[in-house]
Amino acid sequence: MYEYIGAVHIHSRYSDGTGEIPDIVRAASEVGLDFLMLSDHNTLRPKIDGWEGWRDDVMLLIGYEINDRKDLNHYLAFGLDKTVGVRISAQEYVRRVRKQGGIGFIAHPDEQRRSMPEHPAYPWQAWDAEDFDGIEIWNHMSEWMEGLTDENKFQRFLHPLKSITAPPDETLRRWDAIARERPVIGIGGTDAHAHKADVMGFFDVEVFPYKVMFKSVHTHVLLEEKLQRTEESFESDKWLVYNALRNGRCFVANSYHADPRGFSFFANSADETLQQGDFAEFPGAGKIALNIELPQEARVRVICNGELFKEFTGREHTCSVPRAGAWRVEAWLEDKGWIFSNHIRLGSADGKC
Ligand SMILES: [Zn+2]
Ligand SMILES: [Zn+2]
Repeated sequence: MYEYIGAVHIHSRYSDGTGEIPDIVRAASEVGLDFLMLSDHNTLRPKIDGWEGWRDDVMLLIGYEINDRKDLNHYLAFGLDKTVGVRISAQEYVRRVRKQGGIGFIAHPDEQRRSMPEHPAYPWQAWDAEDFDGIEIWNHMSEWMEGLTDENKFQRFLHPLKSITAPPDETLRRWDAIARERPVIGIGGTDAHAHKADVMGFFDVEVFPYKVMFKSVHTHVLLEEKLQRTEESFESDKWLVYNALRNGRCFVANSYHADPRGFSFFANSADETLQQGDFAEFPGAGKIALNIELPQEARVRVICNGELFKEFTGREHTCSVPRAGAWRVEAWLEDKGWIFSNHIRLGSADGKC
């Protein structure tokens, strides 16, 4: 499979980001990203203005981040030609994104703010919405803000990548629980704004240039064919990436700690191979195996239905699957989360695990 690396969930000057699109694309190119998924608040204006496309060696995809009337329930919507309407409930915009052929991800679902009452959190509350494709399991900006205190703010400001550890436990638990019922795709977002005082009342300077943010939490997609990277191929290239995301052919990684390229996780039985995002009826104990391969040694946790099934340290591992479940893999470098796969779901004929 061909692996491409993208930064998802980025704000530009079209909403509350501070960067112009050419500067954001240049920053992505300089750190070697293949694609960018821009998501300004409540507007597809940058797409209407013609910015979407191959911009040199970076594919710029444009969606938007929707919120409801109370500024709650942030939702990342991609693959749309027009917005889904305003003054509607979260349940309704989730439904409309799918109906219009788009792909949607719940943004920062369990966001918390302990120390900054002037910057409230925006956790997801509309869990009865049904048609979301996935959730942003890891959001760089949310994690950075959540741990911020008066004591550590200077350190965190100077080293915005060092304090990023792992996706929130409650989000992972929630993700695993939903995955028992139906496919739900995990992505990683940066939520880059290159904020000024908007994020931190105490510094009136640019916090986190885009280029710095682009070195950390990424979503890697795995494609069966190569991107053509031409103007003519843009639409088909774009849907290769979007469909990989929709189908869960992707994983989340933090490149700051080590290069995650080459990670592989698949299951195989005598007659089939399953990739991340796939579902199959469980064929019986011992009839299917999980295969894990990493670009370097790490502490690996194999998770089944939210429970730790096995932990080992190494680069390669194969294990027989004893039971049905939503299976996924995490790789850690010491106490830092590095790679988080999507699920391979093995269940019963009704699609549940
Ligand atoms: Zn948001
Ligand atoms: Zn955002």
